[in-house]
Amino acid sequence: MFDVTEKQKKTRTWAREFAESEIAPAASAMDKAGNFPRELLKSMFDAGLMGMLVPTEHGGRGAAMLEYVTAVEEVARADASAALVMSIHSSLVTALLAEFASDAMKAARLPSLASKSLGSFALTEEDPSEPTRAEPSGKGFAATGTKMYITNGTLSDLIILFAVTGEKTSEKDGKTVTRPELSALLVGAPAEGLTRKSAGTKLGLSAAPVGRLEFSGVKIPAEALVGERGAGFGMAMKALDGGRIAAAAMGVGIGQASLDAAKSYARERVTQGRPIAKFQAVQFMIAEAATRLEAARALTYQAAGMADGGGRVTEIAAQAKLFASETASFVASRCLQVHGGAGVVRDLYPVERYFRDARVLEIIEGTSEIQKLVVAGSELRG
Ligand SMILES: Cc1cc2nc3c(=O)[nH]c(=O)nc-3n(C[C@H](O)[C@H](O)[C@H](O)COP(=O)(O)OP(=O)(O)OC[C@H]3O[C@@H](n4cnc5c(N)ncnc54)[C@H](O)[C@@H]3O)c2cc1C
Repeated sequence: MFDVTEKQKKTRTWAREFAESEIAPAASAMDKAGNFPRELLKSMFDAGLMGMLVPTEHGGRGAAMLEYVTAVEEVARADASAALVMSIHSSLVTALLAEFASDAMKAARLPSLASKSLGSFALTEEDPSEPTRAEPSGKGFAATGTKMYITNGTLSDLIILFAVTGEKTSEKDGKTVTRPELSALLVGAPAEGLTRKSAGTKLGLSAAPVGRLEFSGVKIPAEALVGERGAGFGMAMKALDGGRIAAAAMGVGIGQASLDAAKSYARERVTQGRPIAKFQAVQFMIAEAATRLEAARALTYQAAGMADGGGRVTEIAAQAKLFASETASFVASRCLQVHGGAGVVRDLYPVERYFRDARVLEIIEGTSEIQKLVVAGSELRG
């Protein structure tokens, strides 16, 4: 494992100590119960993990991306559900507000998001052909529609809701094109007209509180608009660049946990009078897993370093997410194989949880297919 900077090294030690003592011991029970305990969330806030991307003047840690992804990696190594809770709150809520909100909105919202209030980012529609709309109503808006698979959705105190607030027309190739105008709006939760339910029992990342949010005429004041009206799509895509780098770090964390588990099992399991670590076939599985994992880590840090350098990181973020999530699945699968039958029995070894978590990572924050579209679009442009 390599750290690019001294600060990153310190962050790893800090995050690892917290993750190993506070998160890892609870991970298996949380997975089984499909529940994220509020006490754990409070300890993550108290430790400063949830405010990493909040600027220091608003009470956060003001961390660089490279430090933040290192913490996400360490949390994911202990429990990927906890890392998802942290990364959606940080990359998609606090980072978005820190970049796009007005000074007044930052001062009103960020201190609480750094210390105790959980955020969620509601973009995915239950039915994309009937998107959530926020119609002008009085001096503000009234939102109606259903958002699906929203991480932190059932527990959050603040939701960034992406809703259609009207239509935009533009000229393309001499023709007038009409497109929905997407805006980002802050909704405090609970709210009148908002019904929140679990999205259902999941294959993996099962402790993460992922919800279905139904908005029925939820009133939103005009001051809750983040940035300009109609600028929601651009903000969401920019936030997703950071979110995808964090998702890549989750893949690295899951991969590392799987590799650690496989190495320890290979040394302890004896067949035909020898630890299985002595068999070349097992060594090869470990070698392949370790090599691909290190490549995913390098790409993830490269993306994070580029984000810290400023400028656009859309392509490298999509590449890192694509490669690290698929690598996590590959590594977890190989490491499960090293466990033989013990790898597939619940409650025996954690590797089956890593395998399930990694599989879900290939879907969140844009599927692998969507990452490929982003990369190809960038490569073929111009
Ligand atoms: C655990 C979990 C947490 C999540 N958290 C959040 C969250 O916090 N906020 C949020 O807004 N969303 C969240 N999501 C939603 C997630 O981002 C979406 O599920 C994902 O982007 C896929 O969208 P979809 O489910 O609508 O699938 P669809 O878009 O219906 O896709 C179905 C299939 O079609 C393929 N496909 C779709 N469009 C194309 C295309 N243009 N070209 C090629 N293939 C295509 C997809 O790759 C996929 O294989 C979460 C999902 C999960 C499972």
